[in-house]
Amino acid sequence: MVQYGNEVFTNIYPQIVPNALFDFVQEKIEGNRYGKHDSDAVYILKGKMKCGYCGKTITSESGTAKSGEVKRYYKCYGRKNEGNGCQKDTIRKETIESLIVNSTLKFFEDRLNLSTVADKILELHQKRVADTSVLNLLLEEKASLTKSIDNILDAIAEGYRSSKTKEKLEEFEARLDIVEGKILIEKAKEKSAISKEDIIKFISKCTKKEPLQMIKLLIKEIILYDDKVEIYYNYIDKKSPDEFEHQAFLFYTENVDLYMKDDYKLKEQDYILNMLVYMFI
Ligand SMILES: [Zn+2]
Repeated sequence: MVQYGNEVFTNIYPQIVPNALFDFVQEKIEGNRYGKHDSDAVYILKGKMKCGYCGKTITSESGTAKSGEVKRYYKCYGRKNEGNGCQKDTIRKETIESLIVNSTLKFFEDRLNLSTVADKILELHQKRVADTSVLNLLLEEKASLTKSIDNILDAIAEGYRSSKTKEKLEEFEARLDIVEGKILIEKAKEKSAISKEDIIKFISKCTKKEPLQMIKLLIKEIILYDDKVEIYYNYIDKKSPDEFEHQAFLFYTENVDLYMKDDYKLKEQDYILNMLVYMFI
């Protein structure tokens, strides 16, 4: 049982929530009981949530009741500060934070889910690595730049000099530096083979961290509606090349029930909380 101001909640944090989260939330509740300023509260989903209706950031908001109790919410920035007409409801901080944290832990703590997701990630990663079209374009550009530079150098050797030639030469050389850098990155990508075990280790490591850290590492974005939540997870370690920044997979949740949908379906007997996993490239 948790007493929060005048309200008493029972069983709001199910057993699945590790002690770290419970202590963390408890600490925040304790902290605020003594009338500390609200900036002490940590909004663990800050910067990660967007409004499903108008696309604006979901921002934090708090208010103090007559009783002195501080109530905390997440609210659409478009509605709150821009008056854009968005009607998205505000949501209690505790409600959405525990939903996100619990859904994430429940899903990833299941070895079968983790293994299936890792297989899919690996498949996409390998497809990406096998794609050499970007590298080929860069190599073509390098050859063309090298040829242009050689031509200018030849002209200079024959005594042809002008400020324009020098300018062009510098421009080509600068571009060549950039292209060569990109080639290195593309080639490194080929070598950055990851294994299924790496993926599992990364995700497991994230889920063992405190909720704030876990969310920072694992969650790319949350799209919040009044009746559903879409959670986009990162699936590549930040250390990997930046071309992975758009890769994510999605859990789609409606109320607290989570549904599986679309192109990547686990077998029915594998359902955990009816979760849905979409994979994106
Ligand atoms: Zn909105």
